[in-house]
Amino acid sequence: MELYGGVEAGGTKFVCAIGTSPEDIRAEVRFPTTEPRETLAKTVEFFRQYMVKNNARLTAIGVGSFGPLDLNPSSPNFGKITTTPKSGWAFTPLVQTLQDGTGVPVFLDTDVNAAALGEGTWGAAKGLKDYMYITIGTGIGGGLIINGMPHHGLVHPEMGHIRLIHDQKADPFVGICPFHGDCFEGLASGPALQARLGKPAESVPAYHPIWELEAEYIALALNDFICVVSPQRIILGGGVMQQTHLFPMIRVKVQQFLNRYIFASQILERIDEYIVPPALGNRAGVMGAIALAKLRVEG
Ligand code: ADP
Ligand code: ZN
Repeated sequence: MELYGGVEAGGTKFVCAIGTSPEDIRAEVRFPTTEPRETLAKTVEFFRQYMVKNNARLTAIGVGSFGPLDLNPSSPNFGKITTTPKSGWAFTPLVQTLQDGTGVPVFLDTDVNAAALGEGTWGAAKGLKDYMYITIGTGIGGGLIINGMPHHGLVHPEMGHIRLIHDQKADPFVGICPFHGDCFEGLASGPALQARLGKPAESVPAYHPIWELEAEYIALALNDFICVVSPQRIILGGGVMQQTHLFPMIRVKVQQFLNRYIFASQILERIDEYIVPPALGNRAGVMGAIALAKLRVEG
């Protein structure tokens, strides 16, 4: 039985685990993301100690990281976090540092591609080949799996930065994306809600009108993703989606926007099984990283 490592490399915290599946986690650690040298040293130490203590070998380590990332194997910056505004982290060589430190092959992908793979291997997209995972949290990002493989393309998708129809009269908010102002992330991420409200989104009740607006933006984005990619299912995760009352609102609006044009029972009749929450809970990120390692080794 192959044993894998996983790293959820987040902007605020790192989660590292060793195991074979969600039912078989042999070790796990969580710590805050500080500067890269210290954070990666802790990561290496976790895997090294486990291997020494247990006289065990890891087949591979998967890393699902915040980005942007260079995932092109023929690029000089392959395996690095690239132009992140996160202080000290620009051009951090994730793959090389972890590989050199542990002596184990390391496979990197975006946090959202990894989360999608985890859900596809053990969770809400099990058995499907074409699906997406979108997180609505501190940022907005989407992972896209096509024919069972994470999609990269030129760089990797940046689904949080699409432009939406923004009715300035209904919502005069200028948006918070430092690059685009009122892109999807600029209008609908957790910090965008907080900037409008003057307090965290988790502190306002379910009947607050902000949720109607939030559901509208998410549904506009999903409408476009469905039309472009034709996913078999869409998983919506991240802190903001803890507001579970958003799910029925989003589903109805997606149906309205598509207006019965896409003739599929998943959308017309069973949309509650089409737009769904993740199934792997607070281990989704790190399990996704393990799923990534497993996919790269076992195919
Ligand atoms: P990250 O994106 O940093 O990995 P999260 O997915 O937890 O982390 O997203 C954090 C964001 O989600 C914050 O902006 C926070 O205000 C928002 N958030 C967290 N929990 C809730 C909640 N229950 N309801 C609404 N917003 C929430
Ligand atoms: Zn943007």
